[in-house]
Amino acid sequence: MSSTVVGRFAPTPSGRLHLGNLFCSLLAWLSAKSQNGRVLLRIEDLDTQRTSEHYTRQLQRDLHFLGLDWDEGGDLGGPNGPYWQSQRSSYYQQCLDTLSSMELTYPCFCSRAQLHAAQAPHLDDGQVLYPGTCRDLTPQQIARRTQQRPPAVRLQVPDRTISFTDGHYGKVHQHLPTQCGDFILRRSDGVFAYQLAVAADDGAMGVTEVVRGRDLLSSTPRQLWLLKLLGFPAPRYAHTPLLLAPDGRRLSKRDGDVSLSALQKKGYTAADIIGRLAWLAGLQPRPQPVLPAQLAKDFSWDKVPHEDIL
Ligand code: GLU
Repeated sequence: MSSTVVGRFAPTPSGRLHLGNLFCSLLAWLSAKSQNGRVLLRIEDLDTQRTSEHYTRQLQRDLHFLGLDWDEGGDLGGPNGPYWQSQRSSYYQQCLDTLSSMELTYPCFCSRAQLHAAQAPHLDDGQVLYPGTCRDLTPQQIARRTQQRPPAVRLQVPDRTISFTDGHYGKVHQHLPTQCGDFILRRSDGVFAYQLAVAADDGAMGVTEVVRGRDLLSSTPRQLWLLKLLGFPAPRYAHTPLLLAPDGRRLSKRDGDVSLSALQKKGYTAADIIGRLAWLAGLQPRPQPVLPAQLAKDFSWDKVPHEDIL
C-alpha cells in the first residue's frame, strides 16, 4: 500500500550524472521506498544555456538502468511527473507576482563585479551577502535604470532566524539578514532562480521529503521561508554527505567525474554500481552486488555516515 510520503529526484541535465548524483538519488529513492512512498522526477532545466535534452534523456536512462525508477504520471507528466521546469515559467511568474504583491520584492541592478567590489562578507555557499544597494531605490531611479539594463528581482528577507531539524544532520539555524541576505528570485536575463523554482515546485507537487547533497543544506532555510510565504507546508529535509574525488574536491559534471558511462564501459552492472554506492552509504558491509529494492526494507539513516566520503 502506498503511503503519503512523496520524495523526488531533481537532477539538472547539465552533464552526465556522476557517482555523487547517483549516490544521492539512491538515498532519496531508498528513503521514500522504505516508507512505501512515491518518488517523482523533476528535470531542473530552467537554465537552457547550461542544460540539454540529450542529458535529460540520458539521465532518465541512467536512473532506469540502476533500477531507481520514479512513479510516472503519463507522457505529459501527472501527479508524479516527469516534470520539466522549463515548461513551468508561467507558474513561477505567478509565485513571483504573489511575493511582489506582498511588497517583498525589489528590482536589483547590481552586476556581479559591483557586488564583489562592495566587499560584503561571503556566505557559506561562496555567494556574497547582498549589501542592500538597490533596496530603497525610488520609482524614478528604477525607471531610469531599467532603460539601461533589465533588473534581477530580489526577495527582501526579514530579521528572522529560520530553524529546522535535518533528518540526517540535525538542528540547523540560519539568521536570514546576516547568513543569507536578500536573495535573487529572477535573474536579470529573465531566468527564474533555483531557490524560487525549487520551493514553488516542492510545494505545488506535494513533496513531503527532500533528500539531496549536503552542499544544498544552506539553501534550505531560504526555501523554507519561500514555502511559508507561498502558503505551502514544509517538507522534511535530509541531506547526504558528498562523494569526493581522490584529491578531496567535490565531484562535478563539468569535469566529467566518474560518470555512469565510464563504469558501464568497464563492464560494471547495475547491481555492481548500486552495491558499491550502498557500501559507501554504510548500508552493507562490503561492496557486493545488490539491487535497490533489496536495500529498501533495511534502510535507515542511522547507518549513513555524516562525513563526506573520499
Ligand atoms: N537540481 C539540483 C542539482 O542537480 C538539485 C536541487 C535540489 O535537490 O533541490 O544539483
